[in-house]
Amino acid sequence: MPKRLIAVLTALLLLPVLAPTPAGAAATVWHVVRPGETLSYVAALRGVTAGELAAWNGIPANVPVQVDAVLRLNQPDVPLPDFRTRIELVTPASVNWKPLKRCPVLPINLRRVWVSYIDFTGAHRDGSVVVRKDVAERAQQAFGTLYRWRFRIMGMAPMSINNPTEKNMATVTAGYNCRAVGGTSVWSEHASGTAIDINPFQNPMIRGRSIAPAGSQFYLQRDRYLIGMVHPEGAARAFMWNDFHWGGRWTSLKDYMHFSLTNK
Ligand SMILES: [Zn+2]
Repeated sequence: MPKRLIAVLTALLLLPVLAPTPAGAAATVWHVVRPGETLSYVAALRGVTAGELAAWNGIPANVPVQVDAVLRLNQPDVPLPDFRTRIELVTPASVNWKPLKRCPVLPINLRRVWVSYIDFTGAHRDGSVVVRKDVAERAQQAFGTLYRWRFRIMGMAPMSINNPTEKNMATVTAGYNCRAVGGTSVWSEHASGTAIDINPFQNPMIRGRSIAPAGSQFYLQRDRYLIGMVHPEGAARAFMWNDFHWGGRWTSLKDYMHFSLTNK
């Protein structure tokens, strides 16, 4: 099948996920906040009151809503709990440690950071990323901010619990990964545990004509505001305010999913 056709088919398959689905009793309806929008603007646009919107989303009515936030437009079955987070040691096996590979960071210097996140259905989940130990607190801060802003994340480890039907692991929000930069022998910042990728499918990497993950061309049009997308005036700030640099700012290539401490 030609690549373009695959991309179109993938985009079509994703449409129910991309767009609010007003029909059906079980459908969750949401609104992605765009630049310039306020809680009362969204409420008026959607035919609800600002008070309802604040209550349904568990957010203060007097605090500005943030770009890339996803507001639900109906009452949740259970309210979102407060953000929770903890830092754990990792075992070599849990990070797939292979001594002969000579990865740049020893497992003893890595930490698993557990954070609350909101998945694409609006449900609370406990997910984790592995980062170098000195990055752990910054990661907690950034994910805490995303959670309070009601930004949504498609999936985080453990995917067997959080997203068991997802077969495409290229969609996972993750940190440490002992691998080289694609097409080179240079260690990726992920191999040092100093980089985190957020919603890779909605925030692709493009270098020349090469796009990753496969099939994510739809999201290269960055003036779209869709669930899970990261923008400089929106969700990207949660990381940039915690000393991370954003690959969406690069000029040689664009890596919209990528936040790193070293700007590499
Ligand atoms: Zn990355």
